[in-house]
Amino acid sequence: MHKFIVSQATTNRLIAYSSICMIVVQTILSYFVDSSVIGTIRVFGLALAMFGLPLIIYFIRPSSAVFKYLFVLFAITYMFVLLYIQKGNIDNLFLLYVILASASLYFDVEFTLYTTVVLCAEMILGLIFMREALFPLLVPASVFSLIANFLVIGILLAFQGEWGKRMMTSYESVYDRSITDGLTQARNRAFFDEYLRDTIEQARKYGETFSVAILDIDNFKAFNDTYGHPVGDLVLQTATRTIQEIIRKTDLLCRFGGEEFTLIFKATALPDARQIAEKIRSAVEKKALESEGQKLYITISLGVTEFQIRDDDAALIKRVDQALLRAKELGKNRVESD
Ligand code: GH3
Ligand code: MG
Ligand code: MG
Repeated sequence: MHKFIVSQATTNRLIAYSSICMIVVQTILSYFVDSSVIGTIRVFGLALAMFGLPLIIYFIRPSSAVFKYLFVLFAITYMFVLLYIQKGNIDNLFLLYVILASASLYFDVEFTLYTTVVLCAEMILGLIFMREALFPLLVPASVFSLIANFLVIGILLAFQGEWGKRMMTSYESVYDRSITDGLTQARNRAFFDEYLRDTIEQARKYGETFSVAILDIDNFKAFNDTYGHPVGDLVLQTATRTIQEIIRKTDLLCRFGGEEFTLIFKATALPDARQIAEKIRSAVEKKALESEGQKLYITISLGVTEFQIRDDDAALIKRVDQALLRAKELGKNRVESD
């Protein structure tokens, strides 16, 4: 069963804010129903006591996995205690809706089942121990909420079928587009920045090495001026494909901007990275592009560097950029490393 598109941190945030709303709304509601300051303070205090612990956990660890379970447990208990104190005041049915709405926010069958089990358990306890105070509201309220819960489960199950798949597909395609360069279909700069930071973190943690390369097409402005921008675009696409065919699945090619690309070679030390860079340079140089019966060629320059333990992303990019600059100064169509 797949989890839905809303992340744990997002759902936790929604639930935390909705529980703060519940404290406020319940307090205001209590004042209008009761018109007594003491009664209102009591409801406010009770709400704080009930939601305080889940909220503290949320603020300490916003992506906590237990938060939503604690929240539901406390919320349902709170509802029952309130029903008991106010002798079955109908306004508290409002809370049921909020809890069910919160549960359905998860789009998560296991969690909705959990909510149902907690509701059932408390309903049984209520019937055993607070029958007098809660009757006649407890039974219809609980039955109603159970039906609503099962409805939510039904809808969620439907969601996880065909409908869910379609939503996931459209979500994935939106995500894919946000990390892909439209012209070349290589990963884009935003993806690269994040991926580089992740790779650095991983390398530090596991003592792995990796290398980074940056490549820039030589004299591309002149090429564009001579053959036109559309042909230039075709060159960028062809170069991307040529490079993708050479690198490994675990390596990454990104369009860094304009006619510059970056590469990350996972688990690769400098000598090997240099060798792959040289292979790329030579393959691009040999690749012909047909345009109006003419065979066109381009060359690229590359800078390569290996990750050092004290490197952050900026330091790494700066060093690899300097290597590229040297490759350009030394006559282009070559690989330089640092
Ligand atoms: P160098 O060898 O020093 O790198 O010279 P260069 O001409 O390649 O360098 P410069 O940075 O001056 O020019 C880059 C050119 O790349 C400018 C622009 O016309 C071209 N360019 C950038 N993005 C695109 C694009 O998406 N499509 C096309 N066709 N050209 C692009
Ligand atoms: Mg450039
Ligand atoms: Mg260039």
